[in-house]
Amino acid sequence: MARLQLDSVSKRYGDFHAVREVTLDVADGEFVVLLGPSGCGKTTTLRMIAGFITPTGGSVRLGDRDVTTLPPWRRNAGLVFQSYALFPHLTVGQNVAFGLEMRKLARADIAARVTEALRLVRLEHLGERLPRQLSGGQQQRVALARALAIRPDVLLLDEPLSNLDAKLRQEVRVEIRELQRQLGLTTVMVTHDQEEALTMADRLVVMNEGAVRQIGSQRDLYERPADRFVAGFVGRGMFLSGEVEAPGSFRTDGGLRLRCADGPRGKAVLALRPERLEIGAAPLSGLDNSLPGKVEFVSYLGAASDVHVRLSSSDRVIVQVANRGEGFAPDVGADVHVGWPADAAKVFAADGPRRET
Ligand code: ATP
Repeated sequence: MARLQLDSVSKRYGDFHAVREVTLDVADGEFVVLLGPSGCGKTTTLRMIAGFITPTGGSVRLGDRDVTTLPPWRRNAGLVFQSYALFPHLTVGQNVAFGLEMRKLARADIAARVTEALRLVRLEHLGERLPRQLSGGQQQRVALARALAIRPDVLLLDEPLSNLDAKLRQEVRVEIRELQRQLGLTTVMVTHDQEEALTMADRLVVMNEGAVRQIGSQRDLYERPADRFVAGFVGRGMFLSGEVEAPGSFRTDGGLRLRCADGPRGKAVLALRPERLEIGAAPLSGLDNSLPGKVEFVSYLGAASDVHVRLSSSDRVIVQVANRGEGFAPDVGADVHVGWPADAAKVFAADGPRRET
């Protein structure tokens, strides 16, 4: 296994910047997930690590080698794609052996490694089958075994679970993570599935429009989002637009005056999370903000309900209320009070700055 370093890696197609100066240091054995909306440059970044795309700027280092311009087969990267990409006419065992034969290993070594890789993904009994005789989950495990058999310096996963149904996806997710830990594999995975990213990663890289918006742990991204984009992309965020009038004082476009943590003066947005808000029939004493409102909509979600409350003509918030049997459960049309402590809200400049944590 090896450390992976990207230094200002960029990819341009004519005037279009698909990836802009991505700098990332993945430690030996670390599991990093690239997360972001469609078209943000995740796959292009992964393909530059794999060697299928040559960067137009910057460098990629794997261990102590600069691999920026090396072709894929000279990088020792194990790849798993969304589409499995198995050879249909080869057996499971032959598929797993393929990369080893390309590397011209001795026959006995190949047999031993294929057995080992299939055992790791718990498919040692299916080596003679053809891919079409396997379920989707099993095919994806063959693709993983094929990537592991070459004993890669880095494992690269491109939306590896998106062809699987929801239940299987959760199982394979745990299997990949356990295997990755057990083998100490340096791993980079691409996904646009936030839950998948949060459950699997040691660290996450949030990208948008080709650039890194923030790098950090789940907690960093959720509790200390670098900008409005990250606050909206990771977890649920609600945004009230307005301006910071004075330190700790925010006025919404709808005319509400709110106490907030410090933020940049001028036009800004106040970001709130539904689970940080409280709701009651009377003003909420002891909180920095307590505002009257009217319930406009309630959605029951089992463990919790989302209560949509109109606070002013242009400001509406969602309060997440746990369904514990007792407690306050307002109906549509009810007059309520919504409150939160000043530090539960983050203030971002209307167009947030980029930074790395
Ligand atoms: P998705 O989740 O939809 O796969 P992504 O984040 O992986 O998206 P990329 O595939 O990396 O996105 O693409 C990033 C941007 O680069 C997109 O806007 C895409 O249209 C553009 N792009 C990718 N390949 C090329 C190419 N060969 N020529 C021109 N533009 C390209």
